[in-house]
Amino acid sequence: MRGLLGDEFTAFAASFDEPHRVGLRLNTLKTSVPDFSSKPVFALSSVGLHEPAGFLLADPAAQPGKHPFHDAGVYYLQEPAAMVVGSVVDPQPGEWVLDLAAAPGGKSTHLAARLGDTGLLVANDIDHSRAQILAQNMERWGSRHALLTNATPSQLADQFGAIFDRVLVDAPCSGEGLFRRMGSFAWSEANVTACAVRQSHILDDAARLLRPGGRLVYATCTFSPEENEGVIARFLADHPNFALEPIPPIAGAAPGQPAWVNSDLPLDRALRLWPHRFPGEGHFIARLQRQGGGGVDYALFQPRASREARALWADFAANELGDFVYEEERLHEANGRLYLIPPDAPATGSVRLVRYGLLLGEPRRSHFRPAHTLALALKPHEHGQRPILLLTILNLLATRW
Ligand code: SAM
Repeated sequence: MRGLLGDEFTAFAASFDEPHRVGLRLNTLKTSVPDFSSKPVFALSSVGLHEPAGFLLADPAAQPGKHPFHDAGVYYLQEPAAMVVGSVVDPQPGEWVLDLAAAPGGKSTHLAARLGDTGLLVANDIDHSRAQILAQNMERWGSRHALLTNATPSQLADQFGAIFDRVLVDAPCSGEGLFRRMGSFAWSEANVTACAVRQSHILDDAARLLRPGGRLVYATCTFSPEENEGVIARFLADHPNFALEPIPPIAGAAPGQPAWVNSDLPLDRALRLWPHRFPGEGHFIARLQRQGGGGVDYALFQPRASREARALWADFAANELGDFVYEEERLHEANGRLYLIPPDAPATGSVRLVRYGLLLGEPRRSHFRPAHTLALALKPHEHGQRPILLLTILNLLATRW
């Protein structure tokens, strides 16, 4: 780092003696910045113009992770530099977005909030147990238009093809930007090299998933040029139909460093977030656009649910929910559970699904048992007179006794 940073090294090294900053991002699917700010729970300050719903916690001892709002998915605690990634992806309402390496779900919750219950978010993680944690966080968030998958990037590319408007690769990396927060962990030059190879493979698959004209965002939380500028330089050499896009200015961000990998590509269009310049940990972010345009073909998901399940749900929705609008043809039954599939979702073939959209609950012999997930996703006007948690408990009691 001394060799790379020169005069800046002293400030960089000194930043490791500073405490790390805790970030809190509001769930705009559930609340708004003015509403939350009108009844302040913690002292907060803005992270910057790039994320209006993002804040820095003034008092690190406040323990926002223990507040009931956290369990209710009112906010996500996210490292402030990691928050920049979702802002750079910048999904627009109605778009199809893929988060290829999504667990535990920090960026996916951000992307879902930006999409605002429109379009589609496919959040994937290759690791089965991490994909379960992703599911829990997304359920707490109350996102409705998400498919959660547990697949390799190449399985996804083989199944979906180039259908996504935006693809995020928040790549597994050597994690040098986490040293301050984590205290210590294993690091080796061999791991940096192995990470760079893996990252290139993931990006090659990501390119197959992006529609012409779509945007690919590559992010890491490491400083090493091999895993950052080096990986992007290699990608651009292999994919001449992609170009680096300038990223709108973000206060405290520094440019990527083409010279560190002896490249004459415009790698300074990427961002580097340094702990001595930005109130967060280390990050690298690059945004690329695939050239070209035009539509893409894809097969539709075919939701299926038994007549009994539909009837039990319809009865429940009519009697217990408020103004909950849904299209019946989106109901899908899998593994004894009923889901509401996002509209016009693509067929998933043999890709392993962890969640098929919004989990509504379980059709039982004589009644419908609502899922807590449903309660977490309902808007105030969609709630009925009786809280869903109470209904779940009543149902449980009715089944047992
Ligand atoms: N985006 C997440 C967030 O904001 O909460 C963090 C993602 S973490 C940096 C990288 C993820 O990549 C891990 O969850 C890991 O399971 C996944 N991963 C590891 N190897 C992978 C591979 N070969 N292909 C795709 N994902 C991989």
